[in-house]
Amino acid sequence: MENVAEYKEIVEVIKDSGGEAFKLCYQCGLCDVVCPWNRVRDFSMRRIVREATFGMTDIESDEIWRCTTCGICPSKCPRDVRQIESGVALRRIATEYGVFPGSASPVPTISASLTAEGNPMNEKREERAKWAEGLNVKPFTEEMEVLYFPGCYLSYDPRLKKVAAATAKVLNKAGLAYGILGTKENCCGESIRKTGDEELFKRLAKENIKTFIDSAVKKVLVSSPHCYHTFKNE
Ligand code: SF4
Ligand code: SF4
Repeated sequence: MENVAEYKEIVEVIKDSGGEAFKLCYQCGLCDVVCPWNRVRDFSMRRIVREATFGMTDIESDEIWRCTTCGICPSKCPRDVRQIESGVALRRIATEYGVFPGSASPVPTISASLTAEGNPMNEKREERAKWAEGLNVKPFTEEMEVLYFPGCYLSYDPRLKKVAAATAKVLNKAGLAYGILGTKENCCGESIRKTGDEELFKRLAKENIKTFIDSAVKKVLVSSPHCYHTFKNE
């Protein structure tokens, strides 16, 4: 398959995105041994690293979208090759060229939904707080101690809405002064950042930060590990 980006450009983008560590790889293959994908199908992060080192990445391939960024192989790698950051750099090139093969084909629709409605599921923004109806959950105000931020899936997914409702019941029982942002809540942007769409991630992050500041939020309680990681580390 033909590459649509120059080899040199791919190498430079990888370096600019923190992928300098790619070249440290000595091809031991440990990443492939520990990767959960290899229990169900063939997938080689080692090969992706090798190809990227030489700018030979095929950005039209589904393979660069396969890694779930679970974090196992970077934690085991003896050479501290930063597989996740570098893998995201490859996706960034594909995103810039508008190349979304196979399993990545929903990405443009997800991006449009995040932009228009603040969630990746094409759900209506005005229905974001429906999970809280009848549960005595108040809109957040600045005198409250904690902002509860359930995130997208707990706000809309029929099964996960039960988790948000159970959390609210526990908080009510504990007598905590807490509230939610409701329709002002946006996706944390963790997943879209992993697709390489840095611009959309920054837009979502800026909107959330502005809402937190405007609402005088002091503590945030999250249910999603994605929200936790994003707010704490990114
Ligand atoms: S574990 Fe690290 S050094 Fe070994 S093949 Fe994978 S990226 Fe390379
Ligand atoms: S970070 Fe990606 S390549 Fe590494 S073990 Fe997890 S899914 Fe596999």
